Amino acid sequence: MKKIFFVFTLLFISNQWTAAQTFNPSDIKKHVDLLASDAFEGRGTATLGEIKTANYLADQFKNLGLKPAGTNGTYFQPFQVIMGIDGFAHQMTARNVIGFLDNGAEKTIVIGGHYDHLGKGYQTGSLSPDSKNLIHNGADDNASGTTGVIELAKYFAGNAVKEKHNLLFIGFSGEELGLLGSKYYTESPTIPLKSISAMINMDMIGRYNTDKGLIISGWGTSAAWGKIIPDLARKQNMKYTIDSSGVGASDHTSFYLKDIPVLQFFTGTHSDYHKTSDDSDKINAEGEADILKLIAGVLEKLDNKKEDPGFLTAGNPHAGATTSNFKVTLGVMPDYSFSGKGLKIDAVSKARPAEIAGIQAGDVITKLGGKTINTIYDYMEVLGAHEKGQQVEAEFLRGTERKVVKVIF
Ligand SMILES: [Zn+2]
Repeated sequence: MKKIFFVFTLLFISNQWTAAQTFNPSDIKKHVDLLASDAFEGRGTATLGEIKTANYLADQFKNLGLKPAGTNGTYFQPFQVIMGIDGFAHQMTARNVIGFLDNGAEKTIVIGGHYDHLGKGYQTGSLSPDSKNLIHNGADDNASGTTGVIELAKYFAGNAVKEKHNLLFIGFSGEELGLLGSKYYTESPTIPLKSISAMINMDMIGRYNTDKGLIISGWGTSAAWGKIIPDLARKQNMKYTIDSSGVGASDHTSFYLKDIPVLQFFTGTHSDYHKTSDDSDKINAEGEADILKLIAGVLEKLDNKKEDPGFLTAGNPHAGATTSNFKVTLGVMPDYSFSGKGLKIDAVSKARPAEIAGIQAGDVITKLGGKTINTIYDYMEVLGAHEKGQQVEAEFLRGTERKVVKVIF
């Protein structure tokens, strides 16, 4: 299959443009500190921590005057999840939280982010050793994006403008278990899917680093993005990397698969990813304020256009082979901001195939199972073609040194 995936970086450094802060870093910090505090117990799907967080979000929506747009006139849209806990499968109820800024328009833009995280480590996904009964606060993942949903709702509900679109704000649950909340929403939407012009997602926007820049995915899902974003980013002196695909590891994917143009904003992985150390003291609130200003700008431009942004099928060479379908894994976290050839490893899970084979964070895998790995999609293709227990050769670069190891899936 032809690979259409590409990434490039644009740098803007000399512009002296400044403006009054549209989003207040101290408000951002306040929300993230609270959502990522132990009081919310790591926001595990279908736990009391999730309910407490859902109530907090609903309270915010209510105070801003958003209409409840969940089930039965509430802010909540419950759905069932089946979760394996200590070897037994349990059916439990989780909930999305939905608020509607109703401008009486025909079309609606969805603004979302998942509010669930790994709770106390009983669900899968933790990369901390001995993670059970430890609270995973998930400040970056995704108290930061949840805060983005709240702050954008505040901005658009509080401005003196009546937008030409309605805005639907959604906090998704079940994301960490496989995008379950957004999948459920797009299967059982509370407004007609046909009326949705675009979906903007925020997942991990709390670690903005001016060297790495922002990672914007979904670029290829509409021709509008390339016309709107570069100008706005230049005015804010923001650097970014793009990924054309509409399929990725967050909730925008569910909307893309329903032919809706999407954007996903992300500040990159880090060594605290999915660990108990993803705490709020490491959040860059000023950086997040800049990102929210950029997103608000995108929304305003989108809102002012007469035509819909228009959906495009983006380069998506790994369709049908999303992570959850793989029978095998290396147990690594790819560095999505890496734009060189190969798969750069950001983190390695304990006692999984990569770690057992001696692969470390920082290594760049260039060949796996006889296939040259240029992009993450080559890697996913190899995973899709293997079964548990199979042994393959992995070739990787550690600095300039080339190494070859045997990996058992
Ligand atoms: Zn996340």
